[in-house]
Amino acid sequence: MPQTLKDLLLGEMALRHRLLSEEQLDLCIQQQIDERHRRPLGKIMVEKGFIRNDVLEALLRTQRRAMDEFEKNADYGRLFGKTAVLKGYITEEQLTQAVRAQARKHARGVKAKIGQVMLELGLITISQFWEIIHEQGDFTCGNCRQRIDRPFFRGPAILCQNCKSPAFEVTTDSPGPKPRRRTIRRKTEG
Ligand SMILES: [Zn+2]
Repeated sequence: MPQTLKDLLLGEMALRHRLLSEEQLDLCIQQQIDERHRRPLGKIMVEKGFIRNDVLEALLRTQRRAMDEFEKNADYGRLFGKTAVLKGYITEEQLTQAVRAQARKHARGVKAKIGQVMLELGLITISQFWEIIHEQGDFTCGNCRQRIDRPFFRGPAILCQNCKSPAFEVTTDSPGPKPRRRTIRRKTEG
């Protein structure tokens, strides 16, 4: 049985605030899995003596706020995720995997859209990403003002089919060096 989103957020936040180590968190999660009746993860953290009860209470308040915020922002994600499943690009399980990865980022203070997370996890391609967002509305090139319907794809960028300027860039925060976008400036005079 996978962890609930709430416990996942709580664990990530505890790590982020350096209240316990990853090994200690893993011990708590394992204990939770081993017990027949699932108890809240925070209770196990306190019981094992890793965090104090008053610290847990403060952490739970932060976790509730984060959970509310996460759910408020999840509307776009739900539509995107549902479309990806309906189109057969991903399975329900993969959608769950993506939502959990997104929640983990959220707990670390990184706000990522579900589509970005799916791209990072390699669950969808950039052209599938485009197919999904295109279904949700029309896109006009900010440069040439033409409607984008058959764009080009280059790395994480979606390029306008008319003027080839990046129409939509999917920003990722995956670790490691970020590829720099090369901008070619043309001298236009007169
Ligand atoms: Zn254009």
